[in-house]
Amino acid sequence: MTKNSDQPDMKRREFFGKTVLAAGAATVAPGVLLAVAGSDEQQGASSDTRWGMLIDSNKCAEGCSVCVDACNSENGIDLQVRPEGQSDEKWNAQRPQWIRKVKLKDNQTGEVTNLPLMCQHCEHPPCVDVCPTTASFKRVDGIVMVDRHKCIGCRYCMMACPYKARSFIHQDVTEQLVSAPRGKGCVESCNFCATRLDAGATTTACQDACEKDGHQAIIFGDLKDPQSTVAMALKEKTSRQIRADLELNTGVRYTNV
Ligand code: SF4
Ligand code: SF4
Repeated sequence: MTKNSDQPDMKRREFFGKTVLAAGAATVAPGVLLAVAGSDEQQGASSDTRWGMLIDSNKCAEGCSVCVDACNSENGIDLQVRPEGQSDEKWNAQRPQWIRKVKLKDNQTGEVTNLPLMCQHCEHPPCVDVCPTTASFKRVDGIVMVDRHKCIGCRYCMMACPYKARSFIHQDVTEQLVSAPRGKGCVESCNFCATRLDAGATTTACQDACEKDGHQAIIFGDLKDPQSTVAMALKEKTSRQIRADLELNTGVRYTNV
């Protein structure tokens, strides 16, 4: 069993992220992609909980995109169709992505790792700091999301996010799910499937899909509950934050990176 130097301190019911990645040791490789969601209410959210995730890159299969597909389906992103005549290049650059499969390159060893990357649900989210309308906000349970009714589409949050985790909706949204309101001119990002959590679920769509496909690369749960699967896995495994040097104390951690 390895003691993780970047281990959230469950006893203090906080989630400090110290050390781990040396500054700049891992960067999101250029040219890779990315992905959002949610209820704009805090219904069901409790400060006794901090939702978080541990992703095992060794279990994340190269070429697999079931988590991305599940996210698209859960949030109605797949209902958005490519505008007639739009090129592959423009569609791929503009279509919303709440999760994207990326390659991380360790600048010290040169090792490349495949990962799903989504909003990291930072404890100190720069996207919230820069938002002029409070549309970008953090719930008491740690979920960071966008209230689309307040969002004016300035995209400051997209510029502030070091993980490129947010998408701007360029096209009209003609079809959408009641559980995941969307609209042209707004910014979106992963919200840990807040709507289903608020309804009592304890898993995310991406986690379920990954497990169903036999990979089990994603563990999701309450970081503040020492008995939760994710808290116990974090205690047992060495994990790290991507860009830990920024000290954002992310709710998403990675192992075998
Ligand atoms: S990953 Fe980006 S969008 Fe998500 S909380 Fe952090 S800064 Fe905000
Ligand atoms: S795009 Fe929307 S959520 Fe982002 S900073 Fe501007 S108003 Fe806030």
